[in-house]
Amino acid sequence: MHVTKKRNEQQFSVPAMATQEGDDEPPDPGSCLAGTPALPIPRRSGRLVRFPAHRTGILNPAVRSFRKKHFPGVPTKLWNDWQWQTSHRIRTLAQLERMISLSEMERAAFERSETVLPLGITPYYMSLVSPDDPDQAIRRSVIPTVHETVHAPGEADDPLGEDAMSPVPGLVHRYPDRVLLLLSDFCSTYCRYCTRSRVVGHGAIHPSRNRLERAFTYIEQTSTVRDVLLSGGDPLMLGDEKLSWILSRLRQIPHVEIVRIGTKVPAVLPQRITPRLVRMLRQYHPLWMSLHFTHPDECTPESYRACAILADGGIPLGSQTVLLKGINDNVETMRGLVHHLLKMRVRPYYLYQCDPITGSSHFRTPIETGLSIIRGLRGFTSGYALPTYVVDAPGGGGKIPLMPDYVVEREADALVLRNYENKIYRYPEPCNA
Ligand code: SF4
Repeated sequence: MHVTKKRNEQQFSVPAMATQEGDDEPPDPGSCLAGTPALPIPRRSGRLVRFPAHRTGILNPAVRSFRKKHFPGVPTKLWNDWQWQTSHRIRTLAQLERMISLSEMERAAFERSETVLPLGITPYYMSLVSPDDPDQAIRRSVIPTVHETVHAPGEADDPLGEDAMSPVPGLVHRYPDRVLLLLSDFCSTYCRYCTRSRVVGHGAIHPSRNRLERAFTYIEQTSTVRDVLLSGGDPLMLGDEKLSWILSRLRQIPHVEIVRIGTKVPAVLPQRITPRLVRMLRQYHPLWMSLHFTHPDECTPESYRACAILADGGIPLGSQTVLLKGINDNVETMRGLVHHLLKMRVRPYYLYQCDPITGSSHFRTPIETGLSIIRGLRGFTSGYALPTYVVDAPGGGGKIPLMPDYVVEREADALVLRNYENKIYRYPEPCNA
């Protein structure tokens, strides 16, 4: 193991609540797509079930007391404004010190200033962070530690080889029938284990009209592409109008059958999910959403409300969860998470083995941990609660599913199988097989 070299002098040095241009600025909703024709966002389109929480505001007592302590005087309406949340993200050591007692490992991360990812946490998500316990799951997923500066063997900045599979900037074409389109590199909250930590938060990927038009042209000219996944950064950090233009542009391409949006917003910034946003999104069905939930503590009343608005808008919801050491790497935590997700009408979709990104060794578990979690879930809970456990093959091999070994033996006329209770059964193969 050796320590990574210093890569970004500006980390953690942006003043509190900064508004100057630079890295990690939210995309300006008005700049690059001004004058772009987009479908108007209907004031009422169909019947969206009213969820009273979006009017009543803060639902979670922990959130309420955090706001009272650290943002006194901020009215509920402002607290529930996603743009206020975005512009008041916690971005500096000084801000953090006012809210939590930093451990030595956390403080050392700031002193070395060598981590790749900037710091960014919405006030809402910060309210879920334990002020005293550095081992709390939510805290570990967003507060940097000095472990991020350790470069273990086999780790790489771009372990999935995405850069080599980008025919145009910000578009990854790995599988024949689908592409990944990165809209921006901005997230409201940065996960310390992010696979794209080499790009997110650095102000390198802009949702500029020129770049996106190059991507649209590539998709138009590649008739095998039937599925476009919008990701980043977080696509939902763009304004409604800009998103509407992007979706309407994709919908003009006849062979694009479905569009998917990958987002962590319902977990870290549920205020972003508004009835207005969903009225816009539902114009572009079939539209799917891959959410990113990591731990049951993220499943707050606010997140339940956000998922309810999306589900009521007819958007199929799946969740992708990264398996993380000390955060969710046991059956009990994972069971709690997938049960919450089903109640939120979110289908647990993938459980990812953590990618070997630079500085991730403190987050990565042995493969056997993931297999034992799947073994501890299958048969003990609803089949719908079971995500597919996958390794994204380093170098760009794509997702490879992993399963506990339920096949004990292959006999000439039967398959010998083990069930979830470890009992053995023989399944007779058909005679003409
Ligand atoms: S939300 Fe997604 S893209 Fe953004 S930091 Fe987290 S893992 Fe990375």
